[in-house]
Amino acid sequence: MSAFICFDAVSKSYGDVKVIDGLNLDINRGEFVSLLGPSGSGKTTMLMMLAGFETPTGGKILVDGNRVDHLPPHARNMGVVFQSYALFPHMSIAENIAFPLKMRGLSKSEMATRVNKALDMVQLTAARARKPSQLSGGQQQRIALARALVFEPKVVLMDEPLGALDKQLREHMQLELRELHKSLGLTVVFVTHDQNEAITMSDRIAVFNAGKIEQIDTPQAIYSRPKTKFVAQFIGETNLMKGSVAGTDNGIATINLSNGSRVSGRATDVLKQGSEIVLSVRPEALTIGESTSHANSLPVVVEDLVFQGDHTRVHLDCHGTKLAARVSGPTHFFVVGQVTNVSFSPDACAVVSQ
Ligand code: ADP
Ligand code: MG
Repeated sequence: MSAFICFDAVSKSYGDVKVIDGLNLDINRGEFVSLLGPSGSGKTTMLMMLAGFETPTGGKILVDGNRVDHLPPHARNMGVVFQSYALFPHMSIAENIAFPLKMRGLSKSEMATRVNKALDMVQLTAARARKPSQLSGGQQQRIALARALVFEPKVVLMDEPLGALDKQLREHMQLELRELHKSLGLTVVFVTHDQNEAITMSDRIAVFNAGKIEQIDTPQAIYSRPKTKFVAQFIGETNLMKGSVAGTDNGIATINLSNGSRVSGRATDVLKQGSEIVLSVRPEALTIGESTSHANSLPVVVEDLVFQGDHTRVHLDCHGTKLAARVSGPTHFFVVGQVTNVSFSPDACAVVSQ
């Protein structure tokens, strides 16, 4: 079965500058997919092409098997939520929500029923007569969401919709959006530059870098099986160690680290003997101490201990390479200057090209 939303070799140039470069992306019906990447990587451009506010300069966009890339926005029937809520300031909350229905020529009674349902969904029935300026940022965001959902679109597109909210409200809204996605069976394409937000909310994450997708996978796979150095560094915290491939066997590569040690790790690509690589290992995968059962062990010196509440970050030096370990249990037996080992399992490492 083909995907519900399909970007087929889509490019977008402004003058001579190519901001999206022959990009393929399939999104399934009912899926929550995040476009995650640094500022300027092309996320908004992708969303605007899907919404119909921008036209691709190459390739095709299909929804449900039909080409949409030359249809105007209103003919695509997609709900769109922007970072700035873009509510109409002179209209009441109820009028704001009714606007897309008015544009579609629904009857007064049908409009009233749907507006009431949408207000109820975002729990703002009591605010229906107020103006947007009389609501908090979080409430305005919920109204923008209600307006995007009121005409029961097949697809909802959101561009950093929680970016302007403070941390607590943002986390609350993340959970609300997840619930709405599930209960309404929506297909959501969600743009964010916040990796935690993408990990929390998504079925799959597409990691963008300079107009290309570096990896598209589940949050778990993106975190524990990054396929490129960019993905390993962009998602979560990691330790990177340079080296070269001494050999591979059954997907496990033996690595000569440039600091002289030899370790093994899971190879994500086909890696040739002698190729220059980077080994990525997460702070929580490192065990500090003399004797552990992990296959990889490196000599280290403890440089600093930083208490973080629920864990302690232990800064280590391994022949000049700085490493960080995350320790959840007690740390009173570690002292600064202590010479010890750090060990980790080959399965906890990702070996990617340099
Ligand atoms: P993101 O949303 O990931 O931050 P954008 O999609 O907004 O990235 O932008 C991608 C690139 O395209 C940027 O380098 C940006 O400067 C450029 N760009 C976006 N819109 C235009 C435009 N209308 N004219 C020229 N360049 C643009
Ligand atoms: Mg953007």
